[in-house]
Amino acid sequence: MGKVIGIDLGTTNSCVSVLEGTNAQGLPDVKVIANGEGARTTPSVVAFTAKGERLVGQVAKRQATTNPENTVYAVKRLMGQKFDSQAVVQQQSTAPFKIVRHENGDAWVAIQDKQLSPPEISSFVLAAMKEVAEAYLGEPVTQAVVTVPAYFDDAQRQATKDAGRIAGLDVQRILNEPTAAALAYGLDKTEHQTIAVYDLGGGTFDISILEIQKGVFSVRATGGDTHLGGEDFDTLIIDRLAEEFMAANGGVDPRKDRMALQRLREAAEKAKHELSSSLETEINIPFIASGPSGPLHLQRALKRSELEILTARLIERTLVACRAVLNDAKITVDKLGAVVLVGGMTRMPAVQRAVRELFGRDPNKGVNPDEVVSVGAAVQAAALSGEIDEVLLLDVTPLSIGVETGGGVFTRLIPRNTTVPTERSEIFTTSVDNQPFVPVHVLQGEREMAADNRSLTHFELTGIPPAPRGVPKIQVTFRIDANGILSVEAKDLGTGRVQAMSVTATSGLASTEVDRLVQEGQKHKESDELRRDLAEMRNQAETLIYTTEQAIEGYADLLGPDQLDAVRAELASLKKMLESGANLDSLRAAYSQLEGVTFQLAESMYGAT
Ligand code: AMP
Repeated sequence: MGKVIGIDLGTTNSCVSVLEGTNAQGLPDVKVIANGEGARTTPSVVAFTAKGERLVGQVAKRQATTNPENTVYAVKRLMGQKFDSQAVVQQQSTAPFKIVRHENGDAWVAIQDKQLSPPEISSFVLAAMKEVAEAYLGEPVTQAVVTVPAYFDDAQRQATKDAGRIAGLDVQRILNEPTAAALAYGLDKTEHQTIAVYDLGGGTFDISILEIQKGVFSVRATGGDTHLGGEDFDTLIIDRLAEEFMAANGGVDPRKDRMALQRLREAAEKAKHELSSSLETEINIPFIASGPSGPLHLQRALKRSELEILTARLIERTLVACRAVLNDAKITVDKLGAVVLVGGMTRMPAVQRAVRELFGRDPNKGVNPDEVVSVGAAVQAAALSGEIDEVLLLDVTPLSIGVETGGGVFTRLIPRNTTVPTERSEIFTTSVDNQPFVPVHVLQGEREMAADNRSLTHFELTGIPPAPRGVPKIQVTFRIDANGILSVEAKDLGTGRVQAMSVTATSGLASTEVDRLVQEGQKHKESDELRRDLAEMRNQAETLIYTTEQAIEGYADLLGPDQLDAVRAELASLKKMLESGANLDSLRAAYSQLEGVTFQLAESMYGAT
């Protein structure tokens, strides 16, 4: 079995790690792998250029201002989401790229003349992380553990798994981010303790309470908000700046222009970062818009205190979720052994202060909030591949699973915070005589009415033999696996046979669609490799031209006129090929021709000396 890598697929940044071996204490030694630019995290940004080239990571982020419509960031917030969901409506208002309703009701992204699903866009980020690992390991990687917010529902987990498949990765496990963080934090802890993991990233907030005891990590409760993260802090800053700007400039709204909005976003995020270490910062965006009397500039100082007042209600929302989870876990803060901070937003002093006040202690500073999740994922990956002893992770399902019953009521079958894997069975029957099928609607959520919860799937138990109502007995088993993903199986208790059913997923990609995207990705990979080989060949050709020209200049007197002509002719031919953008094969052929004559040239030179 090859290496299994751990990937933290973040809203803002992603990070990949792998197990290197074990250290002197026998504990896993995990390497966070730096990308080609030497950075240990890669922006989760994907862009498409006018030439149809795909860019991922820092290169994509760098060109965002000049190509805002075709630069997609925070696609994690769209994963497994309906077009009219709260998350999408929120993102619509500030995203410079276009979000559209796909025919199945899901939110997709419109780029140039194409519509792309969020899993497909995420797959480009995953593929980039896979390449980072392959370049480091020097071998192909096909298996990974990918993390998701604990609060992700079934559709969001499925979408993440699909993204892995499209990227050519067999996702061995979908691991909850706080559980991954706890794994990284707790491996060297021998005493039994209960910890809280407070994870505030770019797009989501998670809070989990876990028990750690000698290699057993057991989640007591988890909660959070999948629509709350650093992006929301940025949006509040953007709105404040834009509204002030409008008031001062006769109602000119810079958010209406995609390029100006992108510049505002970058400036807001930069200011937010700076205010984590300074008390005041300067925001300066020249030529952001034009008014009746010429270009307009945005310039203003922002104080840390102002940012804190502006964003206080976002931080308060995280505290509300923390209190609810402590309640669910039936634990008081004084019983906790540590509070671990995860996610870039936990660098904000006001966030740290709020955590300290609520939990009555200083948060743990021992882990790097940007890397800890991917380190935990790599530990879990190594345990799955047998490289280290198994660690026992007892995770929970974050949201209740149930079915719609009479009058549109949501009947819970598996309550939230149930340890997974788990299964529950329920007997279904007919409600009228000779009813040939029973429809079942499966949902996930905490609201009392089915319509207010997230619809996962509809299926029909079919082929029921004629019988009076209430007589057929069909046992339906709902199973949640270790990934937190649901599957359903039905058995006719009368015949003992597996009951036929037809399932319609309410959202997500059909399996055939995923297969098509996998193939497309493979094609893209081939053309990417071709492009890389061509670039390398051109580079080699330029070097050979240079050294040959140098040789002619220095040693022309040692060569016969025929020899010189032959070299000059091949030199001219290779140069022409380079200029005309010749393909790889022609370039390669011309290269070897020139190489051939230069070798003869060298032989005569060294013969002569
Ligand atoms: P993550 O998803 O964990 O990569 O977190 C990214 C979020 O953290 C983004 O919203 C960043 O703007 C934010 N962030 C990163 N560094 C800082 C910092 N020094 N101060 C405040 N926020 C930060």
